[in-house]
Amino acid sequence: MTLDLKDTIRTIPDYPKQGIMFRDITTLLGDARAFRRAIDELVQPFAGTKIDKVAGIEARGFILGGAVAHQLSAGFVPIRKKGKLPHTKVSIAYSLEYGFDEMEMHEDAVAPGERVILVDDLIATGGTAEGAVGLLKKIGADVVAACFVIDLQDLGGAKKIKAMGVPVRTLMSFGGH
Ligand code: AMP
Repeated sequence: MTLDLKDTIRTIPDYPKQGIMFRDITTLLGDARAFRRAIDELVQPFAGTKIDKVAGIEARGFILGGAVAHQLSAGFVPIRKKGKLPHTKVSIAYSLEYGFDEMEMHEDAVAPGERVILVDDLIATGGTAEGAVGLLKKIGADVVAACFVIDLQDLGGAKKIKAMGVPVRTLMSFGGH
């Protein structure tokens, strides 16, 4: 039987607040075939190319990014919320729906010129990914692509990242928030 990845995403209406359709990937992760398929499809454009590092955004980007890094024989770099990393860090403010937050990465996690892929579960407004790309560029990374399982296309995040000169790969789209 063919597997439609989109069917493995669970949608929870009005979570975490009224009007948001929460796209829950834990049901995809818990399905062995779907998890493998998602990772295979995320890495497919990069098979045979040299990728030095995969950067994952806390927290769901760690699960997907770790598997992507393993598949590409690349290193893994965590991009974390402020205050979690122990060594010398670079940090950047990024926009949330209401206000700003900060994300951080170890300063020596990527060497200048290394080829890096950014991974997260979902791109909505693109504020989080924009911050992560900014952080990687700050330390001289060559950001080869940004990959997401889900694109909330109406929110324009993918366009924002492409406008930064970074190709975007997504596996499925949903309308609305
Ligand atoms: P944004 O910065 O607006 O692109 O938001 C992306 C981040 O917020 C990702 O790390 C997602 O995991 C999370 N996110 C935003 N909207 C949703 C949604 N509707 N369902 C699940 N996660 C979401």
